[in-house]
Order: sequence, then C-alpha cells, then structure tokens
Amino acid sequence: MEVDWFSLVSVIFLLLFAPFIVYYFIMACDQYSCSLTAPILDVATGRASLADIWAKTPPVTAKAAQLYALWVSFQVLLYSWLPDFCHRFLPGYVGGVQEGAITPAGIVNKYEVNGLQAWLITHFLWFVNAYLLSWFSPTIIFDNWIPLLWCANILGYAVSTFAMIKGYLFPTSAEDCKFTGNFFYNYMMGIEFNPRIGKWFDFKLFFNGRPGIVAWTLINLSFAAKQQELYGHVTNSMILVNVLQAIYVLDFFWNETWYLKTIDICHDHFGWYLGWGDCVWLPYLYTLQGLYLVYHPVQLSTPNALGVLLLGLVGYYIFRMTNHQKDLFRRTDGHCLIWGKKPKAIECSYTSADGLKHRSKLLVSGFWGVARHFNYTGDLMGSLAYCLACGGGHLLPYFYIIYMTILLTHRCLRDEHRCANKYGRDWERYVAAVPYRLLPGIF
Ligand code: NDP
Repeated sequence: MEVDWFSLVSVIFLLLFAPFIVYYFIMACDQYSCSLTAPILDVATGRASLADIWAKTPPVTAKAAQLYALWVSFQVLLYSWLPDFCHRFLPGYVGGVQEGAITPAGIVNKYEVNGLQAWLITHFLWFVNAYLLSWFSPTIIFDNWIPLLWCANILGYAVSTFAMIKGYLFPTSAEDCKFTGNFFYNYMMGIEFNPRIGKWFDFKLFFNGRPGIVAWTLINLSFAAKQQELYGHVTNSMILVNVLQAIYVLDFFWNETWYLKTIDICHDHFGWYLGWGDCVWLPYLYTLQGLYLVYHPVQLSTPNALGVLLLGLVGYYIFRMTNHQKDLFRRTDGHCLIWGKKPKAIECSYTSADGLKHRSKLLVSGFWGVARHFNYTGDLMGSLAYCLACGGGHLLPYFYIIYMTILLTHRCLRDEHRCANKYGRDWERYVAAVPYRLLPGIF
C-alpha cells in the first residue's frame, strides 16, 4: 500500500504534537484555571516563559508510578484470569467466549468478553474504599492527575513500540499484517491486525476498553469527590456529566460483544493510534468536562439542567437504537421488525481478496433510512450535552464536541470510501435512496 503525502504529513504532525496537545489542556487547567488562551498570552507578552510553565508542571512521582502500575496490572488480571460470569445471571447480556468478525485473511478470532465484569468489580471496590475502608482518598486520581499523565504516556509509547517490533519479528497472524513501506505510517496505524500474547490476551480488546474506558467513570467520580472536598457540595453539572458519561461507558461494556464487529476492531490495525490513543488521549481528553468543573463549579438552572439531560438521553437513545437496528437486521438477515414493519433493504454483492463472491444487505428502514450514519448523529448529540453541562464560560470543555465532530465526520468519509469500493454500484443505489450522511437536508 502506498501512503499519500497528506496522510504522511498528518501522521508526522500527530506523532509530534498529540502528546503536547494533551499536555496543553491539562496544564491550562492546572496553572490557568482551564483558560486555553491565557498561557499563549502570558508567553506572547513575556509574563511567563515556556521554561516557567514547565517548571511549575508536576513531574512523575514514585507514588503515581506505583498507582498506575497497580491499576494496569489489576485490569490485566481481571481481563486475563477471570472468565466472565455476568452472562450467567444477567438476562440479555452476551459475554464469555465470543467470536469476532472474519479478518481479511479469513481468520475468526475468539475473545473472552468480560469487560462488564471488570467494570463492576473495579467500581464495587472503589465504593467499598470510599464508604467503608478508606484506604485512599477518592480524590486520588485528581490529586495525581499530571504525574499519572507521564505514566500513561510511557505505557502508550511502550505498547505501540512493542506492537511495531512484534509486527516485524513475531506477528500473531502474518497473513493479516499490513506493511506500507513507510516507517511513520506503520508505527502510527499499526502493522498487526490482532496482536495477541498467548491465546487470549488481545491487545485491541484490552487497550480499547480496559485502562481507558473502565477508568473513565472512576476519573469522573474522583473529580466529583474533589468538588465535594473543595466546595462542600457537588454541582448538578458534575452529576449530569457523571451520569451521562456513565450511561455511555456502561453501554460500551454491556455491548462489548457487539463492539467486536465495529470499525475499531474489524478494520483498524493496532499501532500508536490505538495504543497511545487508548492510554492517553481517551482518559485525558474525554474527561475534560469533569476536570473543568473542579475549577469552575457550574450550577445550572433547573430548566438548563433538564435541557442538558434531555439532549443527552435523546442522543443516547438515537445512538443505541440505530446501532441496535443494524445489528438486529444483520443478525436475522432481515427477518425482523423495524419500527413495527418488515425492513426494506438493498441487496449487495462484493468480492473478497481471495476472489470469492459474497452477498450482503444494506438497511434502508428505521434510522438507517433517515441518514447513512445516524448512529454518529446520536453520539454527537450526547457529546454536545456533556459540553453544555459546563455552561459557556470557557472553550476548553467544548473540545470534546469539536473533536468528536472531526473524528466522526472523518470516520464517515473513511467508511463510505471503503463501502463504495466494496459494494460499487450497490453502494451508489444506497446513497441514492438515503442521500444524507449525518443530518437530513444538510450533510
Ligand atoms: P458503524 O457501526 O456505523 O458501522 C459501519 C459499517 O456498517 C459499514 O462499514 C458497513 O459495513 C455497515 N453498514 C453501513 N451502512 C449500512 C446499512 N445501511 N445497513 C447495514 N450495514 C451498514 O460504524 P462504527 O464501527 O464506526 O461505529 C460504531 C459506534 O461506535 C457508533 O455509534 C459510533 O458513534 C461509536 N463510536 C464512538 C467513538 C468514540 O470515541 N466515542 C469512536 C468511534 C465510534 P459492512 O462492510 O459490514 O457492510
């Protein structure tokens, strides 16, 4: 595969600057009460130098390193050594040993789906500590936030570098490796499709969910605890951010088996983009709203709080129902009801790399008839709700909606490019039947 100029420049830009972007946001909160412009103005007007800002930044500490090592080891333990038992007693939950999608080389991997269990055990222990044992303060994450950032970066780079070396020297499945001939692109986008250690330790499933997404709700709880410690109460905005993001996180783990069939697991190779992104970008930038609210304890009026809650819940409903409709339609091969009716579909065919012809169907009923990626629209509505919970004082908490809009629009275009190549004229028929991507009448 040839790497075009634009992709190469973007890759080098991200490899060089993404860690500084994360640092800038967290430093701006720590030193400038979450103002994104104040550090630039300070440096531009000579009130502070970059060296001053760096000197005020907490370094990595032994305590943070121990905490982080303990955290990751505990998640590895829960992932590798505790087979799922939740599916035995939770009706409707699909966990335990599950099959992923077929890889381009025709391999079907098995996964031990036990993320919900890991999340429940971790949070149970968190609450036992907070209300009974008091081994450590629930503000521990906030109190070590920057020292932990260095630890997360070390793991992110270590795992991406290891994945690159492994791809060259001892890949899990050599047939599924992708080499572009460009070192930076290989490092960032990954060589191996499903790197594993042993039979079960799958890098993508572990890093995608565990160190980052299990931590997401704990980080928010720690921010809420800090608000309580500083101001004597927790604001309604902090509660909204905690509740709406917890719904999203729980949805992720409840549907972990379904996530095995999404783009991250089915199409992306494992490199820096996933390895570093899961360790650093996700836990640090997806939680900016909670962090902001520690510095700015916004108390929303009741109508505003209700508006944010409604937007968040409607967004979540659209996100979940759209994903559910496609899943149901594909699982039952169209023998189901969508919005009370037999679904309409476009019959497609495509040829796989081995030259075999296959058939598939594209749904044009339900939310998939409203827009071609209405699941992304729901996701964006939910993301906007988290940001709006923070009021209008600063730009920083709105980073999430800006980032998600870029991420999902880019993903939309990337996915459609893939689908157009895969389905050819059948995809054109689908585009003619459902002309808009995200917002009917607009885009
Ligand atoms: P989708 O679940 O939308 O899957 C896209 C694939 O679905 C296409 O490649 C195609 O695959 C198939 N498809 C497309 N149109 C149709 C149709 N009309 N009928 C049936 N199948 C169709 O994409 P993602 O995996 O990106 O997203 C999954 C969820 O994860 C989304 O809700 C998204 O919002 C969320 N997400 C969240 C992120 C975050 O950071 N918070 C990041 C990324 C995603 P095929 O080849 O099988 O036909």
